[in-house]
Amino acid sequence: MVIIGLSLLVLVTIVLSANRTALKEDLATLHTGFYQTQRDTIQYRVANVIEQIEFEKSNTERILKNDIKNRVDEAVAAANNIYAQNQHLNKSTVSKMITDALRPIRFNNDRGYFFIYQLDGTNVMHPILPHVEGKSLWDLQDARGAFVIRDSAELAQTQTQAFHRWWWVKPDAIDQEFDKIGYLSLFKPFNWFIGAGDYVVDVEEDIQHRLIQRFSDYSYGEGGYIFIMNSKGELLSHPNQSLIGVGRLDAQDSNGTYYIQELINQARSGGGFVEYQSSYTPIGTMTPDKISYVNYLPDWDWIIGTGVYTEKIDGFLAEREALIQQKNSEEVLKITFLGIVVSLVLAALSLFIGNAVGHRFLRLQHKIKQDFHELEETKNQLQYLALHDSLTELPNRLFLIEFIDRQIKKCQLNGQSLAIMFVDLDDFKKVNDAFGHSIGDRLLAKVGAQFETLLNQDEIVARFGGDEFVFCFSNLSSVLEAEEKGAQISQTFLSDFLIAGKVISSTCSIGVSIYPQDARDSEELIAKADTALYTSKARKKGQILFYDESINQQVQYELTLEKELRCALERNELSMVYQPQIALSNGKLEGVEALIRWENPTLGHVSPVELIRKAEEIGLIHDIGKFVIERSCQQIIEHYPNGANSIALSINVSPSQLIAKGFVDTLTAIVDARGIARERITVEITENVLINDLELVTPILKQIREQDFSISLDDFGTGFSSLSYLSNLPITEIKIDRSFIDKLLVSKQSDALIKAIIAIGDSHSLTVVAEGIESLDQYRKLNQYQCNLGQGYYFSKPILIQELVNYRNDRTLD
Ligand code: C2E
Ligand code: MG
Ligand code: MG
Repeated sequence: MVIIGLSLLVLVTIVLSANRTALKEDLATLHTGFYQTQRDTIQYRVANVIEQIEFEKSNTERILKNDIKNRVDEAVAAANNIYAQNQHLNKSTVSKMITDALRPIRFNNDRGYFFIYQLDGTNVMHPILPHVEGKSLWDLQDARGAFVIRDSAELAQTQTQAFHRWWWVKPDAIDQEFDKIGYLSLFKPFNWFIGAGDYVVDVEEDIQHRLIQRFSDYSYGEGGYIFIMNSKGELLSHPNQSLIGVGRLDAQDSNGTYYIQELINQARSGGGFVEYQSSYTPIGTMTPDKISYVNYLPDWDWIIGTGVYTEKIDGFLAEREALIQQKNSEEVLKITFLGIVVSLVLAALSLFIGNAVGHRFLRLQHKIKQDFHELEETKNQLQYLALHDSLTELPNRLFLIEFIDRQIKKCQLNGQSLAIMFVDLDDFKKVNDAFGHSIGDRLLAKVGAQFETLLNQDEIVARFGGDEFVFCFSNLSSVLEAEEKGAQISQTFLSDFLIAGKVISSTCSIGVSIYPQDARDSEELIAKADTALYTSKARKKGQILFYDESINQQVQYELTLEKELRCALERNELSMVYQPQIALSNGKLEGVEALIRWENPTLGHVSPVELIRKAEEIGLIHDIGKFVIERSCQQIIEHYPNGANSIALSINVSPSQLIAKGFVDTLTAIVDARGIARERITVEITENVLINDLELVTPILKQIREQDFSISLDDFGTGFSSLSYLSNLPITEIKIDRSFIDKLLVSKQSDALIKAIIAIGDSHSLTVVAEGIESLDQYRKLNQYQCNLGQGYYFSKPILIQELVNYRNDRTLD
């Protein structure tokens, strides 16, 4: 409102000031305009007067001619009339009658008269110069040498009637000649010409007189009049009759101006205005200040002028100014009033709008607050989601790492320890497989909830991913405390979990790392706890293992193993050895088992068990498996061609190698390519492969058999071997595990088991191979139990192909 008020004030001020300026300008324009108009008017009037005079002047000759023509026509008519009426009289009588009639006639202020001449120039009548009557003026010449009478007679004779111009004396001034216009008309009866004339100057004088009369009576407006004077300063026409004819060249006004002189000068120099104080003030005019316009008529030496009294102009201007001022004040009043009305309306409007905007703003503010609140909540929620696991609602990996970092800082200050425990549920996959994923999820949530109950201040448990949880216990003063915490975690699994009516038992493995001895930052602590867990699981599930240097070494070893193995094939570090398989009944070499060897510059001799485990782990088993098949087939066929003296070849195939796509095709292709008869090849598989993937493995085994290969069940008796395999699967051979043979002579149990296995093999028509025969007694007993084949250090260690070629079994029972 203040702004509106101020704006309007400024606006009104601007408008008023503009108005005032406009008023001033108006008045100035009015002033100059009016003065100009007055000047124009008086100039116009003078011009008009001069125009009238010029007109009258130009009429002089016409009027004169017309007049004398009429007079002469009248005179001739009168002469004709007299003649006609007096024809009976003689000529001289009639001519006397005529001259008598015409002689006394005067006109034009007595200046005009008739004269009569005969055509030969003899004057008949001349009222002014009677002495010339009867005389011939034929040779009379005027002042300019013209033959006045002779020319007139000729004109009358030739034209009957004509105007003529000559110079002639005046009645009252016989010694001077004046320009005269005459009219001649022939009077036929007597061959006369009758004429009359008048002096131009006289006619002009008449006109001047008439005009002066006219202008003396002429008045216009309020006291306006025309004045005429000559260059001697004598007034010819003026309303003040007393001034007429008075020479006033020396007249001065109160300012000392010789205004008459000034007027004359202006007029003679082409016309102009003169401001002065007049000696004459008409009735009703108070001040003599006057402005006049004068112009000059040189022919007549007339100075013609008219003027206006400035008092009149000023009076009129004052009137007009007052009117304009009044109009202006009204306008100012109007503007002010309008300004007030507009400001009131605007104020009301702004009040209304302000109110409305205020309300709106409040609503908006409220909404913004609400939105902010929602935003804050969403942000918190997002923050929570970003830092928590949605399934267990436990902190996630990100939260954990931040937490550990914070706790590490605390431990740095108070010198205490911190334990990171990496917990993994054992065989969680089996729970998922057996009960479904949703039960698995619920188990994880339940485990998480129970884990949380183990926490004190400054401790957390986070879900790390899958079935992995990580605890962070801080403020520990000894390893013992950490062990206690680990034990508490394990105890969580002592009782079964009841989920959706299902009783689920589970265990967990735990890997522990301790700050500051194992690592000094969160990432490394977690990584080491993970290593400990991995190692623990590898050793035995369900245990807790604290990270130490040996674990580290093992990990390092594993890493080296992996690294070296990746290059082993190309570096040609792998080779094959063959362990003979002897027919126990006659000691004959029946076949060999191909066994892989790895001699590495860094690791030295690496056990094939390790090699195969790692190869399976890192996916190299297929290449290595292919190498084994290729190399052994190649070496055996080279030295033992197909035929009567050929020997069988057993090749170990690891579980993942067996179930890999295209294994049978590869095997077949290689064997065929090498040219070794398929019947000579036995594929050795372990029991584990059957336990884990029986459904997957069965068709593969069938395929192997269909290709005429034999299948041997290696390490028989060590796993959870089910005797049902023997009848359901296309197995052709079983190999009793070395551990039973080892105890054959000392353990009755082993003895019985071996006997049973041999009996079962026999009943299923399977070849039974005893592995690890190290002594003659073992050999004897197995032979006695009618075991088919034997393999072991007693006969031979696994040997190179060259050694095999030279091998002669001499260890027979005989
Ligand atoms: P396996 O198939 O049961 O092989 C027999 C193992 O027993 C061989 O150990 C052999 O040297 C050993 N052995 C034989 N007779 C005796 C004995 O009288 N006393 C003792 N103490 N040991 C004896 P090796 O060669 O170290 O092989 C170990 C395991 O490695 C093999 O067990 C087999 O499972 C695996 N393996 C070896 N070579 C290959 C291979 O080329 N492919 C695959 N997939 N696995 C292989
Ligand atoms: Mg074997
Ligand atoms: Mg074995």
